[in-house]
Amino acid sequence: MSEPSRDVTGSSLVAVFAHPDDESLACGGLLAMCAERGVRVSVLCLTHGEHGPGRGRDGLGELRAQELREATRVLGIRDVVLLDHEDGMLPWIDAARLEADILDVIRRFRPDVVLTFDEDGLYWHPDHIAVHERTTAAIAGLGPSAPALRYVSMPEGAMRALVEAASSHAQLATSAGGTTGSDRAPGRILGVDPDAFGSQAPEPTLVVEAGQFAARKLAALRCHRTQVEGSALEWLDERDAARLLGTEHYRRAAVGAPGDSFLEGLGTSYAH
Ligand SMILES: [Zn+2]
Repeated sequence: MSEPSRDVTGSSLVAVFAHPDDESLACGGLLAMCAERGVRVSVLCLTHGEHGPGRGRDGLGELRAQELREATRVLGIRDVVLLDHEDGMLPWIDAARLEADILDVIRRFRPDVVLTFDEDGLYWHPDHIAVHERTTAAIAGLGPSAPALRYVSMPEGAMRALVEAASSHAQLATSAGGTTGSDRAPGRILGVDPDAFGSQAPEPTLVVEAGQFAARKLAALRCHRTQVEGSALEWLDERDAARLLGTEHYRRAAVGAPGDSFLEGLGTSYAH
């Protein structure tokens, strides 16, 4: 892997997501890389994820808020803005209100780049798609003063490969006399069918090799304990992480500041 040489110190990035854990799974490698290279990295998370896996558990929203704080610390993220819109309801919340929340954070941190979900919401999650739409509209409304906008995407099959690696570790543990039962079969990623990720995802325009930050990405994911319990992510080791979580994909939006952003200097760009 070649070491990107561009100096990005003093740049600023805001990532806009729906739930605690989105930041780590979608782009934990890039966020850690940016933070390490002196970029001010901030995350806006619109819900506490209180209806995610483990729903009904006392205080799940607060637990997930704590998990988000831990994960962002691991990634080196400087600012976390966690709002309390209802989990699962983002497509039905007044669009102007969500856009105003997103614009507040953009005005506060004045990022060079805003990062959010692509139109497939990584796996067609309605909240994720709503965040994509509202963030795109908010940036479009800023006209010439808008920051660059980049979308996070994931190639089809990436999460299937991760589940397969986890399954082979789990089988080895079972055959070695471990205590793993079928109730802990690592068939899902954060409660999601692995084949839903990247299905019909748009082509990326930027590929970032963040393998040297993959162990940190995995550690951040594991901070989301309420979501990771019993999932494939529990079974990966650092070598798996570098191979299966280290390459990240992004796409240039049609709105926002044109031309290359500092992110393009961190990876390999492709014409779109
Ligand atoms: Zn999510």
